Amino acid sequence: MPLLCKDCNGRRFPIAFPDQRDALWLCENCKNFVNIKDEFVREWTEEEIKENKSKLENFQKDVTTEKTPEIKRRSGVN
Ligand SMILES: [Zn+2]
Repeated sequence: MPLLCKDCNGRRFPIAFPDQRDALWLCENCKNFVNIKDEFVREWTEEEIKENKSKLENFQKDVTTEKTPEIKRRSGVN
């Protein structure tokens, strides 16, 4: 499995696409995908990069929220 990127030696992440039988492996440094045989498939598109960024920001917001005690208080208890 193409767990490591041949170009930068970074970690690749499997990304599942509904229209693909197998997941594609993304390198966030090189911004490209390879298939399960480690063959180049395509570039990581601007749109996907933006989408990924907003997902990440949402995730970080969630984490921050959980750590804030005021917000964690159950609603309707006062
Ligand atoms: Zn890479």
